[in-house]
Amino acid sequence: MADFSKFDSSVITDFTPYVTDIPNFPIPGVTFKDIQPLLADPKAFRQAIFEMFVKFETNMNYWVGIDSRGFIFASALSQYSNKGLKLIRKKDKLPPPVESKTYDLEYGNDTVQMQPGKGKVIIVDDVYATGGTMDAAEELCKQAGYEVLGKLVFIDLAFLHGPTNVRSVIKYDS
Ligand code: AMP
Repeated sequence: MADFSKFDSSVITDFTPYVTDIPNFPIPGVTFKDIQPLLADPKAFRQAIFEMFVKFETNMNYWVGIDSRGFIFASALSQYSNKGLKLIRKKDKLPPPVESKTYDLEYGNDTVQMQPGKGKVIIVDDVYATGGTMDAAEELCKQAGYEVLGKLVFIDLAFLHGPTNVRSVIKYDS
């Protein structure tokens, strides 16, 4: 088995080369942050997970992954830390019982769901943009019975939102 304690966290100091900007995707005016270069590089991906892990020195029970790219990071964090994984999914994907939370999008709204439970959680996603998805996830976790210790993403698009307590590996100010 790999010994992650021997991992050298000083190798990559700037993760931005592992993210590709895709202008005008999925709609005009949005620059999509594509994390696939990071995922394709096992060493960089492993260090990214380590960098996310050390953002919280708190003893949670579960990482909560947000559908769908949040699952990638949350499942890796689960294995790295030997803690459990819980899923927040889009509507009608989880079997009952489920708690639901509907939140506003730029146009219309969306609903996320989670099964009820107990324990301390950290919520994980790939990107924090306006924060609407993460806010909904936090409310849903509380509604479902969990105690939210923190919110964690790989990329924070800080120029798109006001003050927040989300923690990130990469922060874009413009
Ligand atoms: P928001 O609710 O505005 O914070 O958006 C966060 C969610 O939308 C995350 O689940 C991201 O996967 C996705 N997302 C928003 N903006 C981007 C972006 N520029 N690039 C990649 N994913 C994004």
